[in-house]
Amino acid sequence: MCVKCREDGRMTKADVVDHVIELQDNYELRLTHSNLMSLCHACHNRKTKREQKKRERIIQTERKDK
Ligand SMILES: [Zn+2]
Repeated sequence: MCVKCREDGRMTKADVVDHVIELQDNYELRLTHSNLMSLCHACHNRKTKREQKKRERIIQTERKDK
């Protein structure tokens, strides 16, 4: 079941196992169970997009500092 959908009271089959903390940030957590989250495609895409935007903002901020 998708964890995010369940929070919203919906029952959706989970299609992907998502890493709460992305592996590029912490590869050590790849097998840590608490870092894994079952999500459906829709929720996973939403989360990935949000993380991407966050990352872009951080990169832009870093550029401004230089
Ligand atoms: Zn979902």
